[in-house]
Amino acid sequence: MKKNSILLIYTGGTIGMVQNAKTGALESFNFNHLLQHFPEIEQFNLEIEAKSFLPPIDSSDMNPAMWKKLALLITQEYHKYDGFVVLHGTDTMAFTASAMSFMLEGNTKPIIFTGSQLPIGMLRTDGKENLITAIEIAAAKNADGTPTVPEVCIYFANKLLRGNRCTKRDAGSFDAFVSNNCPALATAGTNITYNHRYIRPYDEKATLTPQYEMEQGIIIFSLFPGIKEEVVKAVLRSKEIKGVIFRTYGAGNAPQAPWLTQELARASNEGKIIVNITQCAGGAVEMARYETGRQLIEAGVVSGHDSTVEAALTKLMYLLGKGLPTDEARRLMECDLAGEITV
Ligand code: ASP
Repeated sequence: MKKNSILLIYTGGTIGMVQNAKTGALESFNFNHLLQHFPEIEQFNLEIEAKSFLPPIDSSDMNPAMWKKLALLITQEYHKYDGFVVLHGTDTMAFTASAMSFMLEGNTKPIIFTGSQLPIGMLRTDGKENLITAIEIAAAKNADGTPTVPEVCIYFANKLLRGNRCTKRDAGSFDAFVSNNCPALATAGTNITYNHRYIRPYDEKATLTPQYEMEQGIIIFSLFPGIKEEVVKAVLRSKEIKGVIFRTYGAGNAPQAPWLTQELARASNEGKIIVNITQCAGGAVEMARYETGRQLIEAGVVSGHDSTVEAALTKLMYLLGKGLPTDEARRLMECDLAGEITV
């Protein structure tokens, strides 16, 4: 019987880093070094091939051009493999995983991101378990031969989380990611237990239709008590800005100052898309709930529902990158495209 095949893509990140002897800082190193510290790869009953970004990068240097490179690579290799494991730095992993969930439209294969908090060459590394289980999950099939997890995920610290539902929550703990508004899709103990109820169903009719362009004229804008009118105006009136991820209080509330509502309405009327998401770690925006939210609906602000900041940002980049008419992009922001919001 043909073995399941996995493509391992190394973009960089702590998992493959080594310490600079002079400065003591962790620096990206080449993929062969990583593989030297991962002899377990021989023990899988799988066909595993590997490709690396050259040079590998710290994920702080990720950007839409790199996302395009990753999306292109997966697209080119898509039909050759049953699943993909992407090794990536943890700092921006949730952004890249979210971006891939939109850019790789029509994907029905497991694309599992992982990495580690300690390099794979260190004794206490979390990298080995993360990598081994991510590979197992990427290769897992249902009894009917369809992939168990046909979507973009992050596997980290014994949990499989939907990629566009995650946020990095801890810079030190091995348990670095959280998905507050969507349960884990699997947990790994002595067995890997899949939470089939939450995994997106396999769509046999879907075809991969990648979209590589991402609009970068977007800003993440967070409210705080005392925010100045001039600062808000400077941002909202900027010609460079096409969209705003507007991080509001609680269930989507903002101060009732008339100047704020007027500025938001003005920006919306100019065709800027303003998406309301909550600053809270969990929960959703419900703009109709309080008067302080209702005024935003009147100003043309769209609801980001229970989106993470990473998902709202990359979704807006993707929709504007498609060149859709503003109203259509606004409408789609409120629809669930890749499991990123609960509607
Ligand atoms: N700075 C590293 C990166 O994101 C941290 C990590 O890999 O965990 O590439």
